[in-house]
Amino acid sequence: MYQYSRAIYRSVKDLVDPYADRLTQLESRRAVLVACEQTMERLASDPLYFAKPDRALFQDIRRHFPITVQAEVAWAVQQGVTAAVQFIEEQIESGLLDGGIARCRATTRKGKPCQRTPLPDRDYCPSHQHLEAKAAA
Ligand SMILES: [Zn+2]
Repeated sequence: MYQYSRAIYRSVKDLVDPYADRLTQLESRRAVLVACEQTMERLASDPLYFAKPDRALFQDIRRHFPITVQAEVAWAVQQGVTAAVQFIEEQIESGLLDGGIARCRATTRKGKPCQRTPLPDRDYCPSHQHLEAKAAA
């Protein structure tokens, strides 16, 4: 997912407030990069439970950009996040995600495999961790 957060960052980093002093610009860029990375990490670990990730990321970073470029930033974020979501969906569909990211072993009430990330060193996610205790007993 690293390449997607980098791509979003690269497409918006030069749009940060040009009238801010140099230190503020550096801090803004760092904050934008961190927000991009956190969004991608959350997307990768919880893709089906992260609603409107592009809107969330834009809300996180918009204050670092002047009003005149907000539409451009929103568009870049939307493009970048859409590409990442598409990538993740393809991985899930082709079953490739199991190799990279562990999945909870529980079945949801609708009879589908739970897609959430298990707790560290566990087989189940936080909402299904009671199943683990049952299995061990
Ligand atoms: Zn689960």
